[in-house]
This record gives sequence, structure tokens and C-alpha cells, in this order.
Amino acid sequence: MKILVINAGSSSLKYQLIDMENEHVIAKGNCERIGIQGGLITHKTDAGVKLEVRCDFPSHTEAFEKLVEVLTSGEGKVIEDVSEISAVGHRVLHGSEVYKESTLITDKVIEDIDSFWELGPLHNPPQAATMRACRKALGNAVPMVAVFDTSFHQTMPDKAFMYGIPYEYYEKYSIRKYGFHGTSHRYVSSHYLEITGRKDGESRVVVCHLGNGSSISAVKNGKCVDTSMGLTPLDGLIMGTRSGSVDPSIVTFLMNKEGFTPDEMNAVLNKKSGFLGISGLSSDARDLVNASKEGHKRAKLACDMFRYQIKKYIGSYAAAMGGLDAVLFTGGIGENSDEARAEICEGLEFLGIELDETENKTRTGKDHKISKGKTEVWIIPTDEEMTIARDTVELVEKLGK
Ligand code: AMP
Repeated sequence: MKILVINAGSSSLKYQLIDMENEHVIAKGNCERIGIQGGLITHKTDAGVKLEVRCDFPSHTEAFEKLVEVLTSGEGKVIEDVSEISAVGHRVLHGSEVYKESTLITDKVIEDIDSFWELGPLHNPPQAATMRACRKALGNAVPMVAVFDTSFHQTMPDKAFMYGIPYEYYEKYSIRKYGFHGTSHRYVSSHYLEITGRKDGESRVVVCHLGNGSSISAVKNGKCVDTSMGLTPLDGLIMGTRSGSVDPSIVTFLMNKEGFTPDEMNAVLNKKSGFLGISGLSSDARDLVNASKEGHKRAKLACDMFRYQIKKYIGSYAAAMGGLDAVLFTGGIGENSDEARAEICEGLEFLGIELDETENKTRTGKDHKISKGKTEVWIIPTDEEMTIARDTVELVEKLGK
């Protein structure tokens, strides 16, 4: 069974074609700069073909058509015809409170995803548009599945997901904490429980998904009980260009002082803050690590803030769960930065966390235990695409029964 996994971002469309007989990635690629001039598709196949084709994409519809073209023709061809694609799994940013798990896509589901546009303005509309384009290109007979970033966090209790603002705004506008990166948090936490044989026992796990966007979740007995991102992915940790949590009165203070419109304020918090805003140098964690080694004070401050905030989350989530059995690192920073992991874990011996220095510095690119204390610390490379593909197969197989 060949599954096409689609991850439509605000101006990009990533894809993977996976053979689910052996979970082998046949081809993958990315359509970049959608809606902006200078569009580009990069495409790699398992036979070692690498393509980079300049091609303008006015919208996600044209990007989807292009990826179908490169999969089925030319140098990067990996299938004769779209009929070889058994089903399509779509990553969806926001499922509101309606979608608590992955679901088969119907016209109503696409309409719903579109209707949550206020909760995910940059992602939900292009994701719905991509589903429509996919329907058109592949036909109604090819099942499609939506896998939501928010659904894993839907098990949070109301005391964790409510904000202390008038209740009517929750009722009127669905304002609450949703959490994101759910597919990654789900994969990493459940994979850890499986490989350590703790699946059916009691467990208290903190997952640190640390990348350009970062979020942390508390997973008790396999279910998410709290997470750092909120109504939108702006909340929680300081990130590449996102501020993370700030005192909410800073928003009105700055709007008054600088005369910012709501859109401008939004841009400051989402695009000009975080590592970039603090360091004045870069949004990329590796750049900051290198610069701080060369004595760049604000680059070091950005790194220090990030690591300190993560340490606080680990402590608070251990308190929320009544203890801690494991801390799991994933994402570009979580998987690759031994320095970040060492500094985050330093001083957490009181929680049973003690890193094995040699293991922490050893790069395996695989699941890897890096602790020697009572509380386990692991690196678990995330695999969101495979999780989407597995959900797709599971739902499609149920359909056939
Ligand atoms: P992601 O969004 O998960 O792809 O992660 C991207 C982030 O991981 C970027 O900020 C990279 O600089 C960061 N990153 C990747 N490798 C390293 C590394 N060896 N040390 C520190 N940060 C890294």
C-alpha cells in the first residue's frame, strides 16, 4: 500500500510517498514559496535522484499538481500513475475541539477545517485547499485522512486548558489552550513506552519537542495532561522568531507606545521576537550556539533563556504529574544539541535526572538513552510523516472491513 503524506504549511507543501509494506520512503520533497515569486520544488527519490525545479505556485492547488507531475513523470518519476497511491494522509494544524483523533476526510471535514481558519489562519485554509486539489487530481475513490496537530492534546483536563479570562470567550470564540506538534508528542511518547515495555504500566513522561518551533508536553499513562503551546503556537517557550509566553499586558503596552495595529503586533510577536529578537543575530539555534562561543552576549542570553524555560517546564510538569519517569528530547535542537540537553538537565538531580555525559555526546541518529539516573532521559527522533501514514493505513483498513 503506497501512502502519500501531505504537510501543507502557510507557503510550503511537503510530501512523502511511503510504501507501507516495509515503511520505506520512496520519494519526498517540498514545494516552497507558494504564493510568492521564485517558487521551487525539491524532490528526492530512493534511487538517489535529486531534483530542484524552479516553478511559480500561485496557490497550494498548483503546488499539489506539480508534485503529482514529478511523482509520475520525468527524472524523478517513482510511480506510473496516481492510481498507485492507495490513500493520502494530510497533516492539519487545527482541529478545534471537534476532532479529537485522526479522521477520514469527507466534504464536511474539509468544510470544518476551513471553518477553523480563525484558530489557524496561516495553515487551515491552505490545508483545506490542498485537500480539494488532491480530490480533484486523485478522484473521490482515493481515501484521505486528516491527522490533527491538536488532537493528541485533547485529553487535557479543563483546569489545564482554560485561560483565566471571562468564561463567555471560551463559549463564544472557543478560546482555550489547544497545543500543537501533537503528532510528534504522540509518536515520541508512545514509541518510548513501547520500546521500554512500559506501555501498559503507569508512566509520567515529559516530551521536549525543540526545533525552530518548540513545545513541551506532560504525558501521564500515555495521555497528554498539559502542554506549553496554547490557543496558537505562539505560547510557551521562546522559539526561533516567536516570543513564547509573555505578560499579556506587554501587548497593549507596546501597541500604545509604538502605535502598532493588531497585525503589526502579531508580526512582532511571531516573526521578530524569540532567538532573533533577543540576539539581534539569527533565529537559528546553531548560529546562536556558535556566536555565544565567540562571546556574543545576546546570543548567549537567548540560549540561556531557552534552556532555563525548558528546565522550569520539566519541573512544573513533574509536579503536575506527581513525579517523573522520563524526559524525551526530539526536534532539530532536542536531537542534535548535546550542550542544550546538558544545560537543561543540570541541577535536576532532585528529580532523579542524571545525564551520562558520554552517551549525551554520542550521535546515533536513533532512539538513544542518555541518562544514568533513576529518571530516564532519551533522544527519540520524531517521525511525524510515518505517524500520519500509519494513521491513514489504520483508518483505510477499517473502512474496508
Ligand atoms: P527543526 O525545526 O526541528 O527542524 O529544528 C531546527 C533547529 O534545530 C534550528 O534552530 C537548528 O539550528 C537547530 N539545530 C540543528 N542541529 C543543531 C545542533 N547541532 N546544535 C544546535 N541546534 C541545532
